[in-house]
Amino acid sequence: MTPRTILPGATIGVLGGGQLGRMMAHAGNRLGYKFVTLDPTPDSPCGQTARQIVAGYGDQVAARELAALSDVITYEFENVDAEVAAMLEKESYVPQGSTLLYTTQHRIREKRAVEAAGARVAPYAEIAGLNKLREAAKRLGLPAVLKTATGGYDGRGQWVLRSDADLEPAWREASQAGTELVLEKFIVFEKEISVIAARRPSGEIITFPPAENVHVHNILHLSIVPARISDTVRSEAERLALSIAERLGVVGLIAVEMFLASDGTLYVNELAPRPHNSGHYTMEACRTSQFEQHVRAICDLPLGDTSLLTPVVMANVLGEHVEPLLRWMSSVDEEAQELGVEPKVHLYGKAEAKHGRKMGHVNVLAPDTEAAIAWISQSDIWRANPT
Ligand code: AMP
Repeated sequence: MTPRTILPGATIGVLGGGQLGRMMAHAGNRLGYKFVTLDPTPDSPCGQTARQIVAGYGDQVAARELAALSDVITYEFENVDAEVAAMLEKESYVPQGSTLLYTTQHRIREKRAVEAAGARVAPYAEIAGLNKLREAAKRLGLPAVLKTATGGYDGRGQWVLRSDADLEPAWREASQAGTELVLEKFIVFEKEISVIAARRPSGEIITFPPAENVHVHNILHLSIVPARISDTVRSEAERLALSIAERLGVVGLIAVEMFLASDGTLYVNELAPRPHNSGHYTMEACRTSQFEQHVRAICDLPLGDTSLLTPVVMANVLGEHVEPLLRWMSSVDEEAQELGVEPKVHLYGKAEAKHGRKMGHVNVLAPDTEAAIAWISQSDIWRANPT
């Protein structure tokens, strides 16, 4: 595919109308791009700020309509229907291509690609039956994590196996998913970190500073930046992200999630070929946000400077945090002033604040990450989440 420079004034089509599309549109609008999104939910987060085609993601007629309205097409989630992806590639310009999606949609293909880029993944085995699971559990050792190869997110589609007695029940449940399964050795990690890399079709490539991620109930709670890791680990994490982005011929963004084991080894856990929750901190804390960078990369504009302007901690706002957040917003916070922190609120315009649903995030800008964490810990907003 010959790369094209897409200049402001053009229309960017986004498959998916969630918060990632919304924040992409905000950043792209500022540069002068127009946006159209395809999403089945009317008035979606992105649809509130862009033109929206209301239709299912697998609807080929609607996808063709999106193609006709767009100069360039991108996506904000990776489970794009293969036939839709192929059709869009034929009828429009999709600089990210569909090979990257094909690789990252499937854990086993993804692991092979990561290994081919010279990075480590947790020792794993493909599981084709209960006997194979028993064999693999013996070989890799317990605890281990059984995962569906496709469709899992935020801890869904995975089972932690701690003893032999866990094998059969987990196998029974997992095999209902109708997809291949993979068993991974459980990595006792010190920290989870992630690095987002951006790459243009012409090959220019740049990373954002690594984020240290804290999950609660498998959902991201905090991203702490700068990550509290050594310089050696920092540069190794950046090197791995660059090498994966290059090897996979990424265009746009790729988020690389990693486990840092206590001996300093980095294991790549997952890739996401799109803006990532652990990169929301860049919105106020970096010279260029991940969303602007994604737009620049797919439009083949020179990439922006990713330098960190300030220490920051991003805290996710889930359904249960919305009410206390709104209460907090209506008054002056003296504690924040005393700590010298500046919490910046982002809400995604979702109507229903369901428990566990990602409704927004707060980027807490601070003189140091300890002050930001201290503010979050004492805040009523995240009282349910110990930090
Ligand atoms: P994933 O859906 O693969 O991102 O997994 C969700 C979370 O489960 C990760 O962020 C980890 O906290 C945990 N997890 C997943 N795989 C492993 C593993 N092999 N070893 C230890 N923890 C894991």
